[in-house]
Parts: sequence; C-alpha cells; structure tokens
Amino acid sequence: MPLEPSTAPVTFRLLNTRLARASVWAFGAVISARARTRLAGYLARAEQAGHTPEEVADALASGATARALADQITDEITTASPALVRDIACRSGCAWCCIFLEGDGGLITEAEARGLYSALAPLSGQRDGRSWHPKACAALDPVTRNCRAYGTRPMICRSFISTDAEACRENAEGGDAEGSGTIGSQVDYLALLALSRDILRGRRRLATYSLEALARAASDGVTAEAALAAARHAPRELRLTCEDFADSI
Ligand code: SF4
Ligand code: SF4
Repeated sequence: MPLEPSTAPVTFRLLNTRLARASVWAFGAVISARARTRLAGYLARAEQAGHTPEEVADALASGATARALADQITDEITTASPALVRDIACRSGCAWCCIFLEGDGGLITEAEARGLYSALAPLSGQRDGRSWHPKACAALDPVTRNCRAYGTRPMICRSFISTDAEACRENAEGGDAEGSGTIGSQVDYLALLALSRDILRGRRRLATYSLEALARAASDGVTAEAALAAARHAPRELRLTCEDFADSI
C-alpha cells in the first residue's frame, strides 16, 4: 500500500528545486527539458498571480495543470501545421476509435475523471455506447455515435486523430492498419504528468485512472467516489504508459 503524503508544507522553492532536477526517463532529455520549461513557466506565473503553493500543488496533483499546458501545446501544433488539420478524417458520428478492444481505454487524470463523471452521471440508466458495440466506451451515444461527454472528453480522446477512417474501422475489428495515432501533445502531456508526480512526491499523490472503467462506472450510476475507486490505476501505470508512448515515437 502506498504511503500517505506528508502534511509538511509545500513551497514554491521546493517545487522549483525539484523541477530543476526532474526528468522523465522514458522520454529522454529533449522531451523532459521541454516539459520542465513549461512547468517552470507555470510555477512562475502562478506565484506572480498570488496563488498559494498549496493551490498549485492541488492543481498539479489533479492533472489540471498538465492538461491546461497540453491544450496550449495542441493549439500551437495545429496552428503551426495546417496540413495536419486539413488531412484529418475525423468526423461527427465516426467512433471506431471509441471501441476499446484491449479494455483500459487509456490513462486519464483525476481532473479528467471528475469531468467525465459530471457529464455522464446524469445520463445513467440510458442506453450507452455498449449497446452499439460491447467494447465501446460507455460515454458514447449508441445511436448518433457522438461522445456524450464531448466538452469534457479527456486528452487521450482529443489527441487521437486519423487520416483514414476505414483504417480505424479495420483496427476496431482487430486489424493493424496505419493512419491513426495521437498528435505530439499527448507525449508532452504524459511528460508533464510524470514531472508533476515527481515534484509532488511526499506532498501530494497524483493518481491516474482508466477511461473505460470510469465511463462505465459513471454510466452505471455509482457514486463519484466509487467510480474513481473502480477506475483507479496502480501507481506504475503512468510510467508504463510513458514507456509505451516512448516506444512509438
Ligand atoms: S480517429 Fe478514426 S474513428 Fe476516430 S473519429 Fe477519427 S477517423 Fe473516426
Ligand atoms: S470519452 Fe467520448 S471521445 Fe473519448 S472514447 Fe469515450 S466516447 Fe469516445
């Protein structure tokens, strides 16, 4: 069982000192340095804006900070690469990527898990994606095949794109067709989460969750805390996910 975080105070000095030394082993020096620079900028702005170190630690632990920074990176990538946006085949009602053949659905943070829960819990009892396909995400509408939590869908869903919907269909049936994947900001997001966990060690716990399990539990009508407990990953999952993505870069 993991140790409870200490109640010792968090300071900006502590966070900055730890950040200066932190790296994400799986992604190597370049990506680590890029994520460190983003987080250092965030810490400086937060301090200047008068946020307390405790507020900053909470935002880092929930994944809200990493997500806000990753959203900025996504905007930068799409602005700098108009061809990327032009060639995307993703359309409303196209949902092959919402079928989780291997179960977990991807890694989400507490902020994302709570956002998804808030969107899906009021819809519990309605037919969901599982009535379209037994392995589909429960957040999916089974008729329109649109995401019923579109505004709060997690980073893994926002960053997954394809230039070929037919390839996605093949993959949803167990194939290995090319054409789909995540845009670069997903790697930065994982690096930001890994660094956040590292600099918070002993002060806050940065937990991660299974998208599939959280959407299923929320749609099945359990309480928020029960849904989070059911979907919570073992601590090693963040490292393993970073390693998986590093292998695919
Ligand atoms: S990733 Fe593939 S399945 Fe998902 S919306 Fe885009 S084209 Fe459709
Ligand atoms: S949360 Fe929405 S976009 Fe993401 S896998 Fe589920 S249905 Fe698809």
